[in-house]
Amino acid sequence: MKKSITRELQQFMHGVRARNPYEKEFQQAVQEFAETVMPWYLDHDKYRSQKILDRLTEPDRIISFRVTWEADNGDVMMNRAWRVQFNNNLGPYKGGLRFHPSVNRSVLKFLAFEQVFKNALTGLPMGGAKGGANFNPRGKSDAEIMRFCHAMMTELQHHIGEDVDVPAGDIGVGAREIGFLFGKYNQLQNRWSGAITSKPSDLGGSLIRKEATGYGCIYFCEHALNHQDKTLLGKTVAISGSGNVAIYAAEQAMEQGAKVVTLSDSNGTLYLPGGLSREQLPLIKDFKEEKRERLSRFVNKLKGAEYHPKLKPWDFPADVAVPSATQNELNLKDAKTLVNNGTMVICEGANMPTTADARAYFQNADVLFLPGKAANAGGVAVSGLEQTQNSMRVSWSREEVDEKLHSIMRGIHTKCAEYGTENGNINYVVGANVAGFSTIARSISAFGIL
Ligand code: NDP
Repeated sequence: MKKSITRELQQFMHGVRARNPYEKEFQQAVQEFAETVMPWYLDHDKYRSQKILDRLTEPDRIISFRVTWEADNGDVMMNRAWRVQFNNNLGPYKGGLRFHPSVNRSVLKFLAFEQVFKNALTGLPMGGAKGGANFNPRGKSDAEIMRFCHAMMTELQHHIGEDVDVPAGDIGVGAREIGFLFGKYNQLQNRWSGAITSKPSDLGGSLIRKEATGYGCIYFCEHALNHQDKTLLGKTVAISGSGNVAIYAAEQAMEQGAKVVTLSDSNGTLYLPGGLSREQLPLIKDFKEEKRERLSRFVNKLKGAEYHPKLKPWDFPADVAVPSATQNELNLKDAKTLVNNGTMVICEGANMPTTADARAYFQNADVLFLPGKAANAGGVAVSGLEQTQNSMRVSWSREEVDEKLHSIMRGIHTKCAEYGTENGNINYVVGANVAGFSTIARSISAFGIL
């Protein structure tokens, strides 16, 4: 990197860190973004003089509120919740809700920031936002989950709406939580609207939404491999997580002829040396989606599977790694193990699952690195299609939605190639960041000084 670019980057990040002290995840996401877009930014005096990068790293607003609810035993419980509305230049704010004890302002700001560019990449009219609460659904009864969701929506309803801000699911927010949140919203507003997406299809959700992030991630991986005259066929794939993204990434990887050798949860890793079979997948869906069990509780029902409480999926040999659990789950030590074991592709199903030093290590080792901003955009893309169907009061078939998802993921790959090709190779981190940034920069500039 040229000295002048490094100097600008240091100065810019100094300001970001000073304005957002202690927000490590947010600083990390901005640093990764700024490193790659700075050369393009410095080449565009118009945007630089309008301070687009500084304006774009400050959210439009952050709504912070208390959620008070009652446990089954009568105890009064309190959680903290936020909605970070980052940028709505391209359309209503859009981004999921996360329920996890690790949720805080920094985590939601990084997720909302990334969401702005991801949503821009899809080409659909969606701004970027993220929200959630430091609430842990694990171990709570259905009635407690319901009371929490209803209490949360009692405040959140004032800040969302189909043309304002449209939340969806994320970690800890699946079909059950979306049902409770959506029901309460409709009751409070006294009308039905598509103000929440990732709804089950019998509540007005889109077909393929549940599958979209995992499927889209594998479609994107296949595009990137095809670009190098390779395919997923016959490759071994290590996946982390066993939630929404992981399960459908596994399903689609198998569909493409790959062998899925791991899944995981926060307690350990399920290793399947012979590969996950078509008969085992429905069992895993049932235990994870319906019964919400830990992998260790049903590993004995999966023939040939081993459960390793202390190991990560990255400890097992695989051609392709698909981190699909949470941020910073793949560190430098894991990266070295993967490279030593011959891994050729990292395809991020989760948001920022790779630490900055691990990402740099992969890139120096010539591992094909596919960032979440591009690779996991399929979920929000189908959420965007759900908004369209809700507004039009129509329901598209699985085939129609899947076809559109395919076309959006193909389009994102084309944009990455357009903005990220260096010496004949695509740098997908540069491609995704600069493609997203240039779209948003144009819109900020067009709106004038706001
Ligand atoms: P789920 O809640 O369905 O699943 C999360 C999975 O990750 C679970 O298996 C969970 O294990 C595991 N996990 C969570 N936290 C940790 C941790 N700290 N360490 C290890 N494992 C952990 O979430 P999703 O599948 O929806 O989301 C996964 C990732 O994908 C997130 O980064 C999310 O932001 C991103 N994403 C999701 C989209 C979607 O449409 N759902 C869209 C785009 C991105 P356990 O059950 O033990 O907690």
